[in-house]
Amino acid sequence: MADNIFSKIIRKEIPAKIVYEDDRALAFRDTNPKAPIHILVVPKKDIARISEAEAADEPLLGHLLTVAAEVARKEGIDGTGYRLVINKGAHGGESVPHLHVHLLGGRAMSWPPG
Ligand code: AMP
Repeated sequence: MADNIFSKIIRKEIPAKIVYEDDRALAFRDTNPKAPIHILVVPKKDIARISEAEAADEPLLGHLLTVAAEVARKEGIDGTGYRLVINKGAHGGESVPHLHVHLLGGRAMSWPPG
């Protein structure tokens, strides 16, 4: 059983502002938002990071993206647009070892990212 902050949120051991939940995924608001809308979409399965996902996880990975798009619609940012981000490793900026898709919106994003 993983012992990181997102695993504890999934197990409801610590609180989070949950905006979506089903049997495979959970989405909750980031506590240190980088945009007016900043939501994290995570698999309930313990996958530390994208490089540790396996071929059998492909339907789950696709599900995370469709959940992110559904949450974006519910948050009212589908029309203006948004960005989905997965950080991996030190250079990617990963800080929590449980796979998560960042949903960022509510303002225009710059490119390339810093
Ligand atoms: P990353 O740097 O890609 O691993 O993203 C981790 C994200 O988790 C950061 O944006 C943090 O602000 C966010 N975060 C850390 N702890 C919590 C928490 N308890 N609830 C919600 N978001 C969190």
